[in-house]
Amino acid sequence: METAEKKYCIDYFNKTRTKTSEVIIGSVKIGGGNPILPQSMTTTDTMDVAGSVAQSKRMIDAGCELVRLTAPSKKEAEKLGEIKLLLNKDGYDKPLVADIHFTPNAAEIAAKLIEKVRVNPGNYADKKKFEEIEFTEESYQEELTRIEEKFTPLVEICKAHGTAMRIGTNHGSLSDRILSRFGDTPEGMVESAMEFLRICRKNDYHQLVISMKASNTLVMVQAYRLLVKTMQEEGMNYPLHLGVTEAGDGEDGRIKSAVGIGALLEDGLGDTIRVSLTEDPEFEIPVAKKLIEKGNKTKNNLIVTTNKNISYNPYQYSKRKTKILHNIGGKNVPIVFADLSQKENIIAANFYGFGYNYSVNLDKWNLQDLAADYLFLGDNNIDFETPGTLGLVYSFDNWQKNHIDKPNHFPIIRHSETIKYTFKTTYFIEIDSIEIPITYIQENPLAILVITTKYDNKTQIYRYIRTQLDENNLENPVILKFDHTLTDIEEFQLYTASDAGNQFIDGFGDGIWITGPQPTQIINTLSFGILQATRTRISKTEYISCPSCGRTLFDLQETTAKIRSKTAHLKGLKIGIMGCIVNGPGEMADADYGYVGTGPGKIHLYKEKEVVRKNVSEAEAVDALIDLIKEHGDWVEPIL
Ligand code: SF4
Repeated sequence: METAEKKYCIDYFNKTRTKTSEVIIGSVKIGGGNPILPQSMTTTDTMDVAGSVAQSKRMIDAGCELVRLTAPSKKEAEKLGEIKLLLNKDGYDKPLVADIHFTPNAAEIAAKLIEKVRVNPGNYADKKKFEEIEFTEESYQEELTRIEEKFTPLVEICKAHGTAMRIGTNHGSLSDRILSRFGDTPEGMVESAMEFLRICRKNDYHQLVISMKASNTLVMVQAYRLLVKTMQEEGMNYPLHLGVTEAGDGEDGRIKSAVGIGALLEDGLGDTIRVSLTEDPEFEIPVAKKLIEKGNKTKNNLIVTTNKNISYNPYQYSKRKTKILHNIGGKNVPIVFADLSQKENIIAANFYGFGYNYSVNLDKWNLQDLAADYLFLGDNNIDFETPGTLGLVYSFDNWQKNHIDKPNHFPIIRHSETIKYTFKTTYFIEIDSIEIPITYIQENPLAILVITTKYDNKTQIYRYIRTQLDENNLENPVILKFDHTLTDIEEFQLYTASDAGNQFIDGFGDGIWITGPQPTQIINTLSFGILQATRTRISKTEYISCPSCGRTLFDLQETTAKIRSKTAHLKGLKIGIMGCIVNGPGEMADADYGYVGTGPGKIHLYKEKEVVRKNVSEAEAVDALIDLIKEHGDWVEPIL
């Protein structure tokens, strides 16, 4: 348990934005209470000045406040000044950021030409060898001295030119030095940035923004939290740039980004965000803006007055201990609810939206990968056989009148209803009050709690409820219910995923129940998507695809779509699709298989971290990837 002075956010139970130090980056300000800014990165080759200028303009027109461009070597860094001039000439004055990996020379040139440089402490002064080197205290210190010598000139240039810097740690590209001491953990990510921050402070340079990106949302959220705490302990409060790397595309990419970025914004952290989608960068901006809007919402918040502390470790995943009731709780994966309580005249075809397909010819139900586990029918009844695996939940009156004693049929009561009834079977109780009925729950061990609230600060309210349950050693399973009235599908997805992120990342929640004005299929996919993004229930293939940048060696969007079309049925498999060999292998993190660009038209294929096919021609690489998956026994034939 944390002590009060070590909090990563101002208040665990009330949504309060953390004020960081202010950093001036050309025409914009980050931190210090300024609005949270959306930013993105070009996908053009930086040597293509006209193309980079045109794309930057499209991004800025979409609302991008900082434009990042890759500068892999001195020659690209030199082009940045030209790109800036051309943009300024046409009235575009948003700051440019140089993205640097491995090449201090490029950083030093860029820092004199444009407003900000991003360095990756995992590879700024290190060549990654993927080696496990044993460092003694002495050799570790020698490494730090070497890094200081390499990094200080850049700090001095930035200071002299008023250039800002992002120290951007990536989970997948930690140095061998950090890995040898900390492993690829949130602690390692934080220490990696802190080493560079301490050098900046020694040089009295503070125009700094920090990021802790990972593709795994648990690692990402824990790393940012730990960073804030560690900075506080060392007297620093630099602004945060939030992002989930390689989030993928479409709905999955949006949900994953919202789970990670949204979780931190809901806790009042974050000063600028980048949503990394495998799509054109201008499409990232509307998503980023919606997440920021959600993060800023405070009007319909409930003030929680308490002096409690949280009851779990926010820097390490551990599922809340619960007992098993029916098939909910304990070590079971979180269950998914579907809701047809508002539907009239329910027919078998209505089950399609939540993963059940009735074959009339075979008189049989087919379950899809995303088949919901429970269906809430309220006062409705149905006159056909339902799939045996599906639990049916009714209003209390309906259950008592029509369904009592039937297996897999359960009642739900509301906490506010005073029902004089002793349940001898598992049942659900919906609680929409912040103070939970402790004595009632203690006396009713068969109750599964459905937690809901009409307030917007669900993160804090659900956390407060969890704290009460833990304090009283109540192990009843909990279903988290999220209700949004938003009619815009993307907004609905982003808002719900933002609200759900912190809970599942912190091991709270034995099930999810989403309601709102969206079609059943959208809600069902969102429910499974949130569980997948928080790694609490894996029900589909995961694609860790980079957003692409000027280094990308093939058409990422097209290739991702091609790979997805052939492998989408490989539930639980993680496939990395990375545009370049420089960062790809590191950043695809814990993927099972990797597809990485190595040169024009050439692809390396990976089995985990090991390269197993080199320089496969791009035309044959997707098929070669499938062969590789087959060779390792991870292939199953799709059901057509
Ligand atoms: S992995 Fe992708 S986004 Fe990262 S540097 Fe390579 S091409 Fe660019």
